[in-house]
Amino acid sequence: MAVATPPYASDALSEGTVDAVVIGGGAAGLNGALVLARSRRSVVVIDGGSPRNAPAEAV
Ligand SMILES: Cc1cc2nc3c(=O)[nH]c(=O)nc-3n(C[C@H](O)[C@H](O)[C@H](O)COP(=O)(O)OP(=O)(O)OC[C@H]3O[C@@H](n4cnc5c(N)ncnc54)[C@H](O)[C@@H]3O)c2cc1C
Repeated sequence: MAVATPPYASDALSEGTVDAVVIGGGAAGLNGALVLARSRRSVVVIDGGSPRNAPAEAV
């Protein structure tokens, strides 16, 4: 896996217990986290910063 390079953003991890941890912040992971959040679940997304479509300028 490629190493993440700026620009990228990272929030501090929650200190408490969360309902779900999503590994991977690509399209699939973000969509899963969005659905969970809309269901009022607390979610942490952990991403390595190397999405498959990185060469694309926009989605
Ligand atoms: C060159 C290219 C251009 C593309 N352009 C388009 C486009 O214009 N429009 C379109 O609809 N689709 C496009 N696609 C297809 C699209 O990129 C994929 O379908 C989509 O990215 C798949 O999403 P995903 O979440 O499954 O995987 P990914 O996008 O690969 O995301 C997976 C994420 O999980 C992270 N990850 C994996 N393992 C770990 C781990 N152990 N710990 C932490 N993080 C981890 C990775 O760093 C990555 O960020 C393109 C694909 C390529 C290759």
